[in-house]
Amino acid sequence: MPLFNKILIANRGEIALRIQRACRELGIPTVAVHSTADATAMHVRLADESVCIGPPPARESYLNIPAILSAAAITGADAIHPGYGFLSENARFAEMVEAHGFVFIGPSPEHIRMMGDKVAAKKAMAALGVPLVPGSDGAVESLEEARRIASDIGYPVLFKAAAGGGGRGMKVARSPDQLEEAWRLARAEAQAAFGDGTVYLEKYLDRPRHIEMQILADSHGQVIHLGERDCSIQRRHQKIIEEAGSPAITPDERDALGARVTAALARLGYRNAGTLEFLYQDGTFAFIEMNTRLQVEHPVTEAITGIDLVREQIRIAAGERLGYGQSDVTFRGHAIECRINAEDPETFAPTPGKVTLYHPPGGPGVRIDSALYSGYQVPPYYDSLVAKLIVHAPSRADAIARLERALDELVIDGIKTLTPLHRRIIGTEAFRRGDYTIHWLEDFVQKGGGG
Ligand code: ADP
Repeated sequence: MPLFNKILIANRGEIALRIQRACRELGIPTVAVHSTADATAMHVRLADESVCIGPPPARESYLNIPAILSAAAITGADAIHPGYGFLSENARFAEMVEAHGFVFIGPSPEHIRMMGDKVAAKKAMAALGVPLVPGSDGAVESLEEARRIASDIGYPVLFKAAAGGGGRGMKVARSPDQLEEAWRLARAEAQAAFGDGTVYLEKYLDRPRHIEMQILADSHGQVIHLGERDCSIQRRHQKIIEEAGSPAITPDERDALGARVTAALARLGYRNAGTLEFLYQDGTFAFIEMNTRLQVEHPVTEAITGIDLVREQIRIAAGERLGYGQSDVTFRGHAIECRINAEDPETFAPTPGKVTLYHPPGGPGVRIDSALYSGYQVPPYYDSLVAKLIVHAPSRADAIARLERALDELVIDGIKTLTPLHRRIIGTEAFRRGDYTIHWLEDFVQKGGGG
């Protein structure tokens, strides 16, 4: 008996394909949904069935809850996987999925809601003994309050949106005279992006690494971690390269952090996959947020653990037990992922258009997750990520050598992509030494390293 009769995948692009692959291996038929702009997309071609759910703009298609629920009903799907982005962290969607009798492949709506409100998430984590970045106790209600807190924690400080995501609504104030403008801009940006201008304050760390922990929790109370990922290579708070494990932390630090987060999530009663994000500086971890979904960078964890995260998500949603414990999870070698975005590698402007030739790299230790094909027209409406190149090798040095040769093999003609930038980044001494913080790429690009 398969775990589900049919799974509807409420997403597009590489992640829709990734989920289809797990379903197929589990013997579960899939339903693709798509906008009119994606009628010839790979995720539609490869699905068992597909349903058009609306015109190109995401709010009328991939965010169109009634259309997605209707598609599930008419195709007889019994579960829905949201992927990442779009509706994946929308608690209301998860509730409606369940109210209509489908299984939502993800955490409970309550936990999605709790972690989606970053102020509530920090409070919950603090209460569970997870260390935080110093900052306001909750939302900051007035400029006067912001002034008081900022002088307590010390400048520079960072305003962040309570409803945040994608790095939007974040503004730094380096000194008291910058506070008012940062306050105003952060609130306006948060209001525009999320329809909620609520902001909170954090100490702005000057040289942290972004290190996150992958966890899996079944519905029988068992929680395990699958180690960390280092996602410090970022531009404008967007991850560009991710590694597992982090070149900066020791196995003991990994074990200690893992023990702490799994204990916290077990007390919370959390279920399915999740990621806790931390900033790591001077030997300490400080929690910034939790993502209650599959992450873009999940393949690096799959590479070093040998665990298929999407398969586990589906098994957990079907009520199965994990069936193995923390001591069964072992970490083998090193993995690195490059996000190949359809963007100009110098200006970062999106570069939609026709891919005249696509040739993915191959060979030992190389994985490419992509919905590209020769002749594919990259639409201008959605995220610019068009491929993820993941390499796995026994050591970090071997992984870098493998990544270099795989980047050389990769051909995406017709549009500009970030591939040349990736080549330059991994060619630097700093990257080879693993010696970088979240601010490193921005400096590198500004100094002309990007071009
Ligand atoms: P979002 O949900 O918008 O992605 P996050 O809280 O995950 O926001 O932060 C995104 C990125 O912003 C982090 O990976 C890090 O690079 C940077 N950042 C967040 N908080 C801080 C901080 N207190 N100090 C310095 N950088 C930060």
